[in-house]
Amino acid sequence: MTDTIAALASGRPPAALAIIRISGPAAFAVVQQLAGRVPPPRRLSLCRLHHDGQLLDEALVAVFPGPASASGEDLAELHLHGGPAVVAGVLDAVTAQPGVRLAEPGEYTRRAFASGRMDLTQVEGLADLVSAETASQRDQALALAGGALGRLADQWRDRCLNVLAEAEAGLDFAEDEADVAERLDEAARDQLADMADELAALIADSARAMRIRDGLTIAVTGPPNVGKSSLVNALAMRDVAIVTAIPGTTRDAIEVPIDLNGVAAVLIDTAGLRDTDDPVEAIGIARARARAASADLVISVASAEAPQWTGDGALRLLNKCDLAAPDVPPDVLAVSATTGAGLPALRDWLSHWAHNLIRPGEPALLSHARHRAAFADAESALGDAAMASEPVLRAEALRAAAHAFGRIAGRVGVDDVLDRIFSRFCVGK
Ligand code: GDP
Ligand code: ZN
Repeated sequence: MTDTIAALASGRPPAALAIIRISGPAAFAVVQQLAGRVPPPRRLSLCRLHHDGQLLDEALVAVFPGPASASGEDLAELHLHGGPAVVAGVLDAVTAQPGVRLAEPGEYTRRAFASGRMDLTQVEGLADLVSAETASQRDQALALAGGALGRLADQWRDRCLNVLAEAEAGLDFAEDEADVAERLDEAARDQLADMADELAALIADSARAMRIRDGLTIAVTGPPNVGKSSLVNALAMRDVAIVTAIPGTTRDAIEVPIDLNGVAAVLIDTAGLRDTDDPVEAIGIARARARAASADLVISVASAEAPQWTGDGALRLLNKCDLAAPDVPPDVLAVSATTGAGLPALRDWLSHWAHNLIRPGEPALLSHARHRAAFADAESALGDAAMASEPVLRAEALRAAAHAFGRIAGRVGVDDVLDRIFSRFCVGK
């Protein structure tokens, strides 16, 4: 990789500031060309940027020599005024320099991974961090980006390799030392049993980790006209900034994200799950139906005008309590989507439920299906190792387990997943 890449790393102009990043062997030559000097490393210096005798901007410039930079290469950042003409002019001037081209999405991070600056879990953590919408998602992403899972997987790999070394030592014993080999074998089996227990617990906890990342699903069910959509909207109103209607739904948003006191959740309005002739919409609806069927919580809604609940939701609501005041069973929450009565209590209930379920304060490490799959492969290989009838087979299985753990940090066997992981990044990251 000898070319140098450049991209706008900040949001779309106009904005107060715009940051252009340049990474690769020509990065500092570009700065020299535009700014007339290369300022001292790792601090912001005020520079006037020129191209073809034209002043483009007065900018803050920082240079980070590789390999101790975010990309692992020589890296420059130009902090510009965020107007469209400034950004376009500087980006043109930068990419006009020899050996410089525009970056692909995620290419800086890809270079950091290739140069060993980051392991694959840290890459995933960074992608999660950029898309984190709630506090618990952010905390989890920061732990991942900080390398917590990569270190854990490496420890597990080392443990496998240690048992493997012992198993291989056992292979060398002569006939008359069979009792020594037998004792070693027994010790290995004990270790493998302990490891299997620990692994099973870790894998079991991955469901919680994935829920923190993907959000809890809450299906809102009930007969037509009881106010399901109104409730979903009323609950989401406090999070106007992150409400996004799923495209293809004309009447109601089917899935509405909400933030339950730092925990991400998605409200699924089953009233929006109607039949449709539009194939694209039908795919979305089929997906939402499946998600509602396996929801973490089902809310069953009835109207105060006819207080009967269909289905068996874990939480029963009586809506429209502004219209009538019938006696309600103690486990039913009375609300009004119209007046907002009872909604704070409903939010409290949902927050407590969410926090009890996923315990956001406790670190949960296997937050991606990829992590879970690799740990599950390792678990089954360790099972094979424990059951192996011969030392040679045990060694073979232990090597497979070590390989599975090595995939976590991206040390081995990840070529097939790299494109998918890096495709989550935007240009400039
Ligand atoms: P859905 O079919 O269950 O999704 O019900 P909608 O949310 O579409 O509401 C049906 C009708 O009930 C609409 O006219 C709403 O304005 C009305 N509605 C919903 N919630 C309340 C409420 O709490 N009080 C009153 N008075 N009307 C409500
Ligand atoms: Zn509706």
